Amino acid sequence: MKLELIQGDITKVAADAIVNAANSSLLGGGGVDGAIHRAAGPELLDECRRLYAQGGCPTGQARITKGYRLPARHVIHTVGPVWRGGNQSEEATLARCYKSVFALVEANGLRSVAFPSISTGIYGFPITRAAPIALREIQAAFARLPQLEKVTVVLFSSPDLEVYQRALTQLSTPE
Ligand code: ADP
Repeated sequence: MKLELIQGDITKVAADAIVNAANSSLLGGGGVDGAIHRAAGPELLDECRRLYAQGGCPTGQARITKGYRLPARHVIHTVGPVWRGGNQSEEATLARCYKSVFALVEANGLRSVAFPSISTGIYGFPITRAAPIALREIQAAFARLPQLEKVTVVLFSSPDLEVYQRALTQLSTPE
């Protein structure tokens, strides 16, 4: 399996798909969502408006669009949970986001996908708790999907990258 953790801007990543941490309207927002829409151009919003008319994307689910002006061929939009203290099934819902994304990766025969750190920005999910969930789901996808060649997690800041690197070490060498 080829898992890469990098620091950078996900809108610059050339992959079969990049993942957007969207909101359930799919009509754009701040953070990585805003950056992806700015870089993809207005055609992305047009396609998202059509998905909005069909109900948008409920929390924990995912929807796929084209990538338009992005170097990535597709965008897979998923809606992470808003952190409400940890007793509202936030961890299970976050895991479901990753599963929903990989179901679309499988259905569309994609071989490479790049993720941001879903829910850990505006939605307030503690990144130290999100990182092991993300990495466990990515490892499970590698085990399940022979087509999958490369998964990149793109962290926006170097402290975030360090959290993911530490979580990966702890997953590979459990006490
Ligand atoms: P959410 O609403 O799911 O919390 P955010 O977009 O607020 O989504 O934040 C998710 C993560 O994406 C945060 O760690 C944020 O720093 C990061 N982020 C913001 N812009 C980019 C970008 N261009 N590339 C990669 N990550 C980004």
